[in-house]
Amino acid sequence: MKDQLLLVLDAGTTSTRAIAFSQDGEIVASAGRALTQHYPASGWVEHDAGEIRDLSRACLEEVAAQVGVQRIAAIGITNQRETVCFWDLTTGEPLARAIVWQDRRTADYCAGLKAHEPGLEARVQAKTGLLLDPYFSATKMRWALDNWPTVADAARDGRLAVGTVESWLIWNLSGGQAHITDATNASRTLLMDLAACQWDDELIALFGVPKAALPRIVDCAGALANTALLGRRIPITGVAGDQQAAAIGQACLSAGMLKATYGTGCFLLAHAGAVPPVSRNRLLATVAWRLDGAAAYALEGAIFVAGSAIQWLRDGLGIIASSADSEALAQSVPDNGGVSFVPALAGLGAPYWAPDARGVICGLSGGSTRAHIVRAALEAQGQQTADLVDALAADGVAAAMLRVDGGMVANDWLCQDLADSLGAVVERPRVIETTAMGAAMLAGVGAGLFPDLPAAAAAMVAADVRFHPAIDGVARSARRSQWQAAVAKVLAEVKPELNLEAKL
Ligand code: ADP
Repeated sequence: MKDQLLLVLDAGTTSTRAIAFSQDGEIVASAGRALTQHYPASGWVEHDAGEIRDLSRACLEEVAAQVGVQRIAAIGITNQRETVCFWDLTTGEPLARAIVWQDRRTADYCAGLKAHEPGLEARVQAKTGLLLDPYFSATKMRWALDNWPTVADAARDGRLAVGTVESWLIWNLSGGQAHITDATNASRTLLMDLAACQWDDELIALFGVPKAALPRIVDCAGALANTALLGRRIPITGVAGDQQAAAIGQACLSAGMLKATYGTGCFLLAHAGAVPPVSRNRLLATVAWRLDGAAAYALEGAIFVAGSAIQWLRDGLGIIASSADSEALAQSVPDNGGVSFVPALAGLGAPYWAPDARGVICGLSGGSTRAHIVRAALEAQGQQTADLVDALAADGVAAAMLRVDGGMVANDWLCQDLADSLGAVVERPRVIETTAMGAAMLAGVGAGLFPDLPAAAAAMVAADVRFHPAIDGVARSARRSQWQAAVAKVLAEVKPELNLEAKL
């Protein structure tokens, strides 16, 4: 039993991968395939659902063949969230392309809803924890029903199935037996009542989505569905959306534990306990997991520009040759020399929500060098994270510690600066595949290999390095003030109505 493996399918935005984990959290084998990105118009992003299905199966079979299919105890699934797939229940084939989370085609629709009924967003937020934004699935479903006749016809004939990526994959892997979604993915649709973890009839009516086409909402672990891999029956016993899976894979299992993933952008998730949190600072409230019918909740914030600021220093300014060079350069100067860099290259995300904001480098003097600018770009990560942590605190979630992952955290200087900026311990895990790890833990719990998530974490998750704050409170506040003054310069340039909206 102990040598049985947990096979994870990680259906991401740019690639689909399968990873086999041992029960002590080691990666035994993996396979991946790049996913084709379709950009049919400006701001539109689509995936071919058939390709997601075929590549996912190919990756699962490749890893199963490598490790021996008889060694696989169960399958866990994690996925890009919010992306919507449309398929025909009678043929099993996609009816249209999947509309991807990044797709902004429903921006006007969302603006129209808000303009038509000013109190609507607050009502929707109270029910779902989300905002009226094109990011979320229901707006994409509405668009498809209005604009794609294949989807509209199937809805009229009762043949339509609609669901997020895990739902489409489970339907296929189960041979059309299971049309389900887990509560974390469902909590990203704008259709689920966050407290009840059930589809909400008022929201379903608002977005005009046929309820019969939606999957059933289930727990994140348990005997969820069955599949056959290389001729052998294997249960699917764990499912969660990618950010939630990463938080689980980082063992953020109690209130106040935070994980942040520093890649192109940064996604922060804070465990908020057993009651749905209400954000007054435009953070998103979401389901962290649901087990045995009981949900745990999280608050989530996104920073649009994290690693892409370092990429810009490399490719835009040309002042570093590689992203990794940023570490030695930041270290080469004793401080930022008064230079601040607010990397609002693609607007400011939470908690500012100023999509039209643009970046600023300020505090330059004759003595400023590229090292100061690079250091300021790295320091911006700590400060942007501190902005989110402050917003969390204002929403009642006090940060106990931060666990980090993503491409940027290979930079030790950055991790130390995060600890200094937050005044909290920062931990980097041994296995950095935290998203897949979380799905493996859920699958292990669902298959009965572990009694609960803490037991799965104890067996599978280990910290590699801990960074302890090394500056005092006075130095920390001085840095915060310097940053806040720079952010004020950025916000002063933003259209007043956007500022107003950001404060609502
Ligand atoms: P994504 O999953 O969003 O594609 P990754 O997690 O692979 O991103 O992280 C890549 C990002 O991390 C890039 O933007 C890159 O500039 C940045 N990065 C990689 N290594 C370092 C480093 N040593 N220091 C700072 N930034 C880095």
